[in-house]
This record gives sequence, C-alpha cells and structure tokens, in this order.
Amino acid sequence: MPTPTTVTETIAAISTPPGRGGIGIVRLSGSQAATIASQLVRLRHPGQFEHAHALLADVLDAAGDNPTRIDEALVTFFAAPRSYTAEDLIEIATHGSPVVLELLLRRALELGARLAEPGEFTQRAFLSGRLDLTQAEAVRDLIDAQTLTQARQAASQMGGALSHRAAPVKEALVELVALLEAGIDFAEDDLDVTPQQEISRRIAELTPPLAALEASFARGRIVHDGLTLAIVGRPNAGKSSLFNRLVERDRAIVTATPGTTRDLVTERISIGGIPIELVDTAGLREGPRANIDEVEQLGIRRSREALADAALVLIVLDATQPLNDEEHRLLAAVVGRPAIVAVNKSDLLEQHQKMDAPGLDFETGESSISTSALSGEGIAALREKILALATGGAASEPGMLTNLRQHQAVTTALAALADAATANAATIPHEMILLDLYRALWALDSLTGQTTPDDILNLIFSTFCIGK
Ligand code: GDP
Repeated sequence: MPTPTTVTETIAAISTPPGRGGIGIVRLSGSQAATIASQLVRLRHPGQFEHAHALLADVLDAAGDNPTRIDEALVTFFAAPRSYTAEDLIEIATHGSPVVLELLLRRALELGARLAEPGEFTQRAFLSGRLDLTQAEAVRDLIDAQTLTQARQAASQMGGALSHRAAPVKEALVELVALLEAGIDFAEDDLDVTPQQEISRRIAELTPPLAALEASFARGRIVHDGLTLAIVGRPNAGKSSLFNRLVERDRAIVTATPGTTRDLVTERISIGGIPIELVDTAGLREGPRANIDEVEQLGIRRSREALADAALVLIVLDATQPLNDEEHRLLAAVVGRPAIVAVNKSDLLEQHQKMDAPGLDFETGESSISTSALSGEGIAALREKILALATGGAASEPGMLTNLRQHQAVTTALAALADAATANAATIPHEMILLDLYRALWALDSLTGQTTPDDILNLIFSTFCIGK
C-alpha cells in the first residue's frame, strides 16, 4: 500500500464499474495527471486545462503522429488543491466501452502513471487533510448504501456530522490537559476552588456527550449493517406467505445475494430504511416428502438454527390450531429475545375468536400480532413491529457512530476518562491523571484518523472499490 512518500506519484484507474456502460470514466490523480491526459486525448479546441472545466476531446489509440481516433471524450480537470484528492485530477469520460477504457488505462500506465490501489483516491484525500477518517469511511458507506436511509446517513457523515459532534468534547479535553500540563491553579474569580474539584467537574462535563455518542451506536450500527429476521414456526402456519407479503412491497433496492444456506430462502427488504435480511425457514418443505415426520424434524432443526443466528425472530402460529409442544418450546426459547409472534390466518377466525387465538396469552404476549397473509390484515402492523424491534427504540440522530472502529474509539475514551476521574478522586499526582487524559485524547483523535496507525488505515481503504 502507498506510503506518504508516494503521494505525488500519479495514479490511474477506471472509476466506473466493470463491463459495458452508457458512460465510462478513467481517473488520473497526481502531479503528472494533466501531462499524461494530454497524450491520451486530443482536445477539440486546443487550449489549456482549466479548473472544473470540461473540454471535448478525441480519444487516440496510440502516441505519435498518426493516431486513430477511437472515441470521443469529455475531459474534466480539477486543479490541486481544489480537487477530490487535493492533487491535480483528471477525469476522462468516454462512451462506456470497456475496450476503450482499458486502452486509456494501459496507455496512462505506459506514460508513467501507476495503477491505483482500491480506495487510493480517497486515501489521498484523507492524507492531504481534505477528509477525516469518518468522512472517508462515509464515502465508502455511501457507495455501499442499499437503502436511501443508509445513503442519507452516509452523506451526513461525509459532511462531517460525526466529527463535528466529537469536536467540542475533544476541545474541552485538550483544555483540561493543557491546564494540568501547565500546572495552572484553578482558582477562578474569588472562589476558592481546589484543583481536584475542578478536575472532577471538568471530567464530569466531558462524559455525558461522549456517553450519548457511544449510545448512538445502537441505532447507527443497525442503519449501517441491517439485521437478520428469521421466520420460524410449524409447517403450514403461513411463514412463506408472510415472507412473500413482506417482500412484495419492501424489497430493498439492491437484490440480495443468494442465501448461503441451501435450505433457507432469504431476501433483503428495507423497513423504515433499515436493511433486513428475511430468512424463511419454510424452504425446507421442498425436501424429501417420503417421511413427513423426518421432514418436520428437519424443519424444526433448521428453525432452531435460524433462530440461533438471527437478531430478530418472527414466530408464526396458525390461529386455527392449538399450540403444539414444539411451539411451546419455541415460544419459551425466545423469552428475553427480540421476537414477534404472528398469529396468522386471522381471516379464518370469527371476530370473537380472535381474542382467544392461541399465543396471545403467553409470556411474550405483548408482542403477538394478528395477521392474515391471505387478506393482508395486520401486515402493516407487523412491519411497524419489526421496525420497532429492529431499532430497539433508539432514535435516529445526526452524527451516529456506525462501525466498530468508531465505537471502540469512543468506548476507549470513556474508559480512560473514568480512570482519570478515579485517579483524581484518589488524589493521585497530576502526571498520572494526565496519562489517562492523553489516552482519552488519543482515542478521540483516532476516531477522525489523526492517530490511526498506517496498517489500520490501509485496511480501511482496502475495503473501497478501485477508482474511488
Ligand atoms: P409455511 O409452511 O409456514 O411456509 O406456510 P405457507 O405460507 O406455505 O402456507 C401454508 C398454507 O396456508 C397455504 O395453503 C397458504 O395459502 C395458507 N395460508 C397462509 N397464510 C394464510 C392466511 O393468513 N389465511 C389463510 N386462510 N390461509 C393462509
């Protein structure tokens, strides 16, 4: 991976996805970007590249006096330091033929550019200080977003929402460190404040905003990662029918990757912008039919496995059937876990029977809901319930923590602050309290990438796509 010494090297990549497209873009960044680009294309109207100006050009198949024009292009130049990477940057947009794009890239490499590593354009933006690490991560999250809610969240973080939220805490921490370092007497006005009380007051002020930030991970993580909902229950309860009901309107914009387990049908849906992987354990009924008991046993086992793996569970009961032993066990197994009980086939019940439907009076009774996959009754309520359970009541807010790295930085800072408070209460010398405060500061700095080690940075940027 690149080190800061290679930053002036010019890098090149095809920035549009592989394959044919309506348009295809080759991107160059570095001090030689314009020189190389001017040999790849011939401008229609001779002149100089100007910042943020797009110029019409012809793509040439070779260097020399007699090249053949193989495409036309729109060439946009962004001058350092006002480009995405803060270096000279060129984008050559052609008609989206992979052949032309590959030729452009190959020629750029022949002319002295180096093939960009995944995420290297963004890494350069980070190294030049144009983006901090939370913003760079947001660039990747935006590209990877599968729902609009995820895209909004990423865009807000890209705008610095998370860094802005952490900034005042860091400022106050730096101030406290500076005071201790200078050995300054805390006496303000005429009040006779002892340093110990003052330190304790200042640490106490730092903690709540940091704790709130830490708590934002509950919602931020779910928006970022989504979660899995397993639909379990006895055969014929209506699991597949409910699955289809949920999928038909809420299918996520991006088609889910096929289920990894042969027997389980999975589909990614989006409820309230949260990606939810639905796992239908009913797929196993397609298995051998010879021995129904065996199939049912297999079903129960699969249901249990899916139940163990999923963050949320939807138990489907048949409203027209009394609970059997296995269902009792299933219900007992989810006590204390985020679970919903759907008492399905409500359309087959008379109004007065609904109250007596099985499952309404057991332990997780408050979560049970009457549904009909046939008529659609209760499906909207089911969706709401899934959303409520998924978010655990955690509200969406600006500047949420969205990944483990960020969460770890904040929990480390909180723990270090707690240590500082303890040390201070025990009247331990300021030098020792300072060590804890520096640890907190270091953790907050690593949130934005100021103190993040190179190998971790490289790991983060390697998760980006090439050309970004
Ligand atoms: P699974 O084995 O739990 O996946 O159940 P299915 O979804 O395959 O449904 C089993 C049978 O019950 C099918 O014939 C469905 O049409 C029927 N069914 C499912 N949900 C309902 C419902 O809400 N009302 C009625 N009347 N029939 C339903």
